[in-house]
Amino acid sequence: MSRTEAALRGLIFPRKCVLCHCLLEPQEPRLCPRCAAAVPEPISGARRGSYYQRWVSALWYVDAVRSSFGRYKFGGCSFYAREYGPLLAKAIETRLGTDYGLLTFVPINGLRRRRRGYDQGQLLAEQAAARLGLQLCSTLKKRRRKPQSKALNAAERRKNVQNAFWVWNPAAVQGKRVLLIDDVLTTGATVSEAARVLLAAGAKSVDVATLAVTPMAERRAD
Ligand SMILES: [Zn+2]
Repeated sequence: MSRTEAALRGLIFPRKCVLCHCLLEPQEPRLCPRCAAAVPEPISGARRGSYYQRWVSALWYVDAVRSSFGRYKFGGCSFYAREYGPLLAKAIETRLGTDYGLLTFVPINGLRRRRRGYDQGQLLAEQAAARLGLQLCSTLKKRRRKPQSKALNAAERRKNVQNAFWVWNPAAVQGKRVLLIDDVLTTGATVSEAARVLLAAGAKSVDVATLAVTPMAERRAD
């Protein structure tokens, strides 16, 4: 791209911070200095009574992070995964380590994926796997459900995700320590159900890493 083309592109598609959406110079990183400085220490915990053992998240799911996720999931901003990747990889490396035989992800269902053009969890998993030198393998498939007309409480969410997933290639997970990637940890019902079917398929253990965690989910962690 010539400098003129780059300048024109900058006018049409101004470069913005992936989190706070402030305007950036064309050569600046896509995470502005203010947002980069505000990234918290990785947030982590151990779950009792869930099928996964440990979890870690890179960001709090509040304010600018929520808006950023909206653009990532529903606004076509799939390239955000490249900026989220280092944050997720650092959180995993710091709190969970990299002793995993397999890295996999919570998928969206096939129809949604075709409409959206990408699976946001898979893109995050690709970033984490590449940065941590882990083997990435798609293992879970998601069944289609009727869309929900209202927000669900924790018990309703747990019921709603029962049997939501199946493992299409159990041989890939057998005997492996599995690291499961998802975008947001809320009640933990989704990742717990995904972990349950991974264990049933023969995984040795399942830990969870998400890009963000809701404050409510963190309080419930222990
Ligand atoms: Zn920013």
